[in-house]
Amino acid sequence: MSMPLPDNKPRRKKSKPVRAKHVPVRTCVACRESGAKRGLTRIVRTPEGEIRIDPTGKQNGRGAYLCDKPGCWERALSTPVLSRALNVQFTQETRDYIKEFAAGLPSLEDGPDTGVDSKELS
Ligand SMILES: [Zn+2]
Repeated sequence: MSMPLPDNKPRRKKSKPVRAKHVPVRTCVACRESGAKRGLTRIVRTPEGEIRIDPTGKQNGRGAYLCDKPGCWERALSTPVLSRALNVQFTQETRDYIKEFAAGLPSLEDGPDTGVDSKELS
């Protein structure tokens, strides 16, 4: 006269928790486009608190990405998007450093140093 025990076999759910394995989604902090297609440049705040452009993407620290649109680099300098992403305040030195790098971006086809030209502002 034993009651049938409730069937409490553990049920296997079809959707097991996806433990995302560090899939790097790189998104430009300025325009929010993910950079699967475009080149994105990593800017990193090193553990020492320095800001470095990190083309290899391997440097230690907190990183943020900017795509190769000049407008995004301008935005990174003129708005807090990048400094906020890196959780740091830019010094003038850092700004100059970033500016310099942005000026040398290969995507600036119409390249020579004709000063600031913000065609790409959208
Ligand atoms: Zn962008």
